[in-house]
Amino acid sequence: MTQHLPPSKDSPIIIVGAGVFGLSTSIHLAQRGYTNITVFDSKPYDETLYSYFDSCDSASSDINKIIRSAYGSQTEYQDLSTEALSAWAAWNAELKAANDNNHDRDGIKGITPNSSLFIPNGYLNCSDSTTLPDFEIATIENMEKAGKHGTQLINNKQADIQLASQRGVEYALQPFNKEVLGVLDTTGGHVLADKACIFALHKAKKLGVRFILDPVLGKFTSFGYDSSSNSTTKTITSITTADKKHHAASLVVIYSLCETTAGSVFMLHIPESSPLRQRFHHSQFPSWSFNMREHGADGGLYGFPVDENGIFKIGYRGTKYTNPQQQSDGQERSVPEQAHKVVAKFLDEYLPELDNSGIHISESRLCWYTDSFDNHYVIDYVPG
Ligand SMILES: Cc1cc2nc3c(=O)[nH]c(=O)nc-3n(C[C@H](O)[C@H](O)[C@H](O)COP(=O)(O)OP(=O)(O)OC[C@H]3O[C@@H](n4cnc5c(N)ncnc54)[C@H](O)[C@@H]3O)c2cc1C
Repeated sequence: MTQHLPPSKDSPIIIVGAGVFGLSTSIHLAQRGYTNITVFDSKPYDETLYSYFDSCDSASSDINKIIRSAYGSQTEYQDLSTEALSAWAAWNAELKAANDNNHDRDGIKGITPNSSLFIPNGYLNCSDSTTLPDFEIATIENMEKAGKHGTQLINNKQADIQLASQRGVEYALQPFNKEVLGVLDTTGGHVLADKACIFALHKAKKLGVRFILDPVLGKFTSFGYDSSSNSTTKTITSITTADKKHHAASLVVIYSLCETTAGSVFMLHIPESSPLRQRFHHSQFPSWSFNMREHGADGGLYGFPVDENGIFKIGYRGTKYTNPQQQSDGQERSVPEQAHKVVAKFLDEYLPELDNSGIHISESRLCWYTDSFDNHYVIDYVPG
């Protein structure tokens, strides 16, 4: 097996991809004392501010993302989630302190004072089944084992309904107009994805990380290899960007270029004057998923409360695209018909008040997942 020694603290490290993984890695390396880190991305995030409407190629550029501890028997994700939740709480506190002390109040473009990055409005994983799937049962057992007693509430169990009511989260047990069976993960909720990335970019810059965010100067095109080595394993020693410039590095970390499948996302705009703004506000409405497992292409829905701009977002991953067709403008972004059908049916049955108020799907988009074909992640040296 090849031995990989860590680079020295001042040797040049290149990260390709300024999505949430590239940002997070740059922050953690800088916090561990690495002083010569450069992040490249072809998206000019200083200008686009991780806008959902301006970055189809970046999974991290989004309005909101679900945060949950519920991972069935996959306790490695549950453990990661526990760590992540503490980190989100710390970032919320850091942002609040910066605002309270008036530091950065006007300094972080794109983040309004008093915003939170993580909103703990709960995550309801539900279905139209009459019994709880094994996944939910395993989540409850594993959260208990991890000492997180009473965090997973079954929405038709009297004792849990009472607990939810005592904690003021009863609203999240039956959020739709038709009853569902599910488990409320009270540790969960959602993050404001674009704002979280803006904050992470700001933090990384403060830690001394350099960023080249530009469609040409920041666009990775190829690796450079150590030509003197006679070993069978090639060593990457630089990258080349679209301006044909070579950038030497002791370590290159890639957090991009691995898009495998695309999910469908739909948006409805709720006008400010509509009472549905309050009905779907995060103080009254959980993040949710519906028929996520065992329903194949007819299930796989998830959604969020309405955001500050009135956007009510619903996603579909019952069928993911692997080979989207190019459209006349060269873009590959059309949402599968199946996705549209499933979401429209759900809205009719479970949230009819939207249609009754004249609120319909106004936009849809494909968004590239960067996880592997089986929904896991891969971290490896290439060549391994
Ligand atoms: C529709 C959808 C919904 C999701 N929902 C959730 C959710 O609710 N909760 C959750 O936890 N996760 C969710 N995820 C997963 C999560 O969004 C991703 O795991 C995460 O954002 C991936 O981050 P990343 O940094 O690896 O990739 P990305 O955010 O995709 O970043 C990759 C970066 O690489 C850049 N890049 C690409 N090519 C080049 C190049 N040649 N040169 C330079 N830069 C380049 C891109 O511009 C981009 O900025 C969802 C993903 C999708 C697609």
